[in-house]
Amino acid sequence: MKILHKIEDVRNFVKEEKGINKSIGLVPTMGFLHQGHLELVSKSLADNDITVVSIFVNPAQFGPNEDFESYPRDFDQDVSLLKEKKVDYVFAPSLDEMYPENFATKVVVSGITETLCGAKRPGHFEGVATVVTKLLNIADPDRAYFGMKDYQQLKVIERFVRDLNINTEIKGVSIVREKDGLAISSRNIYLSDEERESALSLVKSFNVVQNLLDEGERDADVIRERVIDFISGFKYTNIDYVSTVDPETLEYIGFIEDKFLLALAVYVGKARLIDNKIFEV
Ligand code: AMP
Repeated sequence: MKILHKIEDVRNFVKEEKGINKSIGLVPTMGFLHQGHLELVSKSLADNDITVVSIFVNPAQFGPNEDFESYPRDFDQDVSLLKEKKVDYVFAPSLDEMYPENFATKVVVSGITETLCGAKRPGHFEGVATVVTKLLNIADPDRAYFGMKDYQQLKVIERFVRDLNINTEIKGVSIVREKDGLAISSRNIYLSDEERESALSLVKSFNVVQNLLDEGERDADVIRERVIDFISGFKYTNIDYVSTVDPETLEYIGFIEDKFLLALAVYVGKARLIDNKIFEV
């Protein structure tokens, strides 16, 4: 496995590999790798000749009061996990390499960035779209892999890749969960044992929703209120949003006709956790 820090070095190997008709898969991450990331890596290894994993904690997608400085990092462990998976290349650029002096460009996606996390984290998706555009331009992959845990992020990426005619197939990967259902996240490390118990309220609320649907409930606002009550009943929880939206447009759904996405963002202690599920009736 080769570890590269320079954009030029990535471009060189991409040229070389493509020259001998190798397909390339890219898995963008912010490091502190866990089973969720490794699932994306497995998918890329299965689909492509060459897999590149990028590790870059992108300051542009963190708000001024968010956890950029304290975001967990463990480069050595990441490298050893990726070596074990037999990944071909790791791209770990410095901040200056990605954002040199006088960097002035942003990729702005309208509409679908204005709900859910986009509404709560101003500038977040501009930061995501800009860095992912750069990574796609640098590695020029045939396919790139993103988790459905960050559902809105996946939809935003699908949108600008289509709008800007970027020649990469975007692959969404199902949420990887702990045995008890908690969606795996680098930020779970912030949770104390007691908070972790409360963090289960997110995935448990999916049962509340399913039961209401089974009883015939179709008013999304009623479902939303019941989820809010349920999660609020757990210690240390502070709801950022509970939303029912169209899984494609991410627009608010009030009455459930066929399917909807339940999207959750909840602070548990200081950890901001997200989770989601598509329900069909
Ligand atoms: P991050 O390092 O948090 O930016 O995540 C990198 C990629 O891994 C993103 O595409 C995430 O959606 C994905 N990811 C993170 N956690 C999970 C999970 N539990 N299941 C599936 N994908 C995940």
